[in-house]
Amino acid sequence: MINPLFLSHLKENIDSQIKILIFFGGFTHIGFFIFGIFFGIWQVSVYSGIAAIVFFFAGVFIHISNFVVFYVLTFIEIIINVVWLEFSVNTSLGFPLYFFVLIPVSIYILFTEHSRWFRIIFLGCSFFANIFGYLFFQILSSLMPATDISLSVLLTFSVYNTVCVGFMIGFLSLYFMLHMQSQFSIIEEENSVLSEMSFRDELTGLYNRRFMKDFLEKAFASSDKEFCVAMSDLDFFKQFNDRFGHEAGDLILKTTASLLSPYSEETKISVCRWGGEEFLFYFPMPPQKAELVLNQIRENIEKSVLAYKDKLLQVTMTFGISDSAKNYDLLSQMIDDADSRLYRGKNEGRNRVVL
Ligand code: GH3
Ligand code: MG
Ligand code: MG
Repeated sequence: MINPLFLSHLKENIDSQIKILIFFGGFTHIGFFIFGIFFGIWQVSVYSGIAAIVFFFAGVFIHISNFVVFYVLTFIEIIINVVWLEFSVNTSLGFPLYFFVLIPVSIYILFTEHSRWFRIIFLGCSFFANIFGYLFFQILSSLMPATDISLSVLLTFSVYNTVCVGFMIGFLSLYFMLHMQSQFSIIEEENSVLSEMSFRDELTGLYNRRFMKDFLEKAFASSDKEFCVAMSDLDFFKQFNDRFGHEAGDLILKTTASLLSPYSEETKISVCRWGGEEFLFYFPMPPQKAELVLNQIRENIEKSVLAYKDKLLQVTMTFGISDSAKNYDLLSQMIDDADSRLYRGKNEGRNRVVL
């Protein structure tokens, strides 16, 4: 499944590239026009004028995002080009080479948002038509009697056509390659943002409950169970919300979360938002050491004052720490222990750490 964002970005950027290509196509005909006058070959000059008009319409159709009409017009233009110039001027001036420019353009159709079958059939037919067209006109023109033409005309047209076709194909192919590369890196980035979002809590930016549960389950299953957990809960938060409003409550939740997380960076402590205003910590250390860290966090929360709509907001938090993981058979028992110690802390007066 192709990422829709990738498609829209690709389309947006390729449109401008195809427009440059059309511009270049028109420019190619100016070259033909000049050569026609210079060598006195009137067919070439007349054809170039007609082709420029066809290219103008192709440009209009790509502008209104009608790729099929654009493609058909370009295809017709190339056939007329080959028939008109190749047969009326000479048999080996390299005009059928222009069929190959349609190959990268056909690949582009693959990335447009038509139905899957349309794209597959269109791509298949156009590949066939491009290569068949080239071979057919190349063989047919070699069977035609060669007209009398000077070496300088032959050289000029052959070299000019080869260079133009080479440039067009090179331009498109290089563009496709570079663009694909940059688009795939955008997709990778988006995916990493998405996976980051899947284990983060939206409000606080901390890990969410699901992530922490998986993480703790793994830690608990490992042979080295040198860790403990701690549960924390804001004190009188219902009252806080009632007094200052839910918005202030959210703000204080965010601020409190930012006071919990710096420790996790330095000491490999992990913390998640377990529920509304409850947080669960993972400490890769004995409970006594965790107690010291949590008391520091508790003091920081207590000291922190937040200005909000000419009011000063302040909260406290209570913590309960489990024993070392080694003392439990089940992870849930360990979390329950931290929880019951937290509620002991609530009953003993709140704003404290209970081990
Ligand atoms: P205690 O000290 O016993 O914990 O008292 P409490 O009022 O904090 O009691 P409890 O922990 O049961 O209250 C939870 C309250 O937290 C209920 C709800 O109003 C509030 N809360 C939960 N999630 C959010 C949130 O995302 N934003 C805000 N603003 N408030 C929340
Ligand atoms: Mg509470
Ligand atoms: Mg609570």
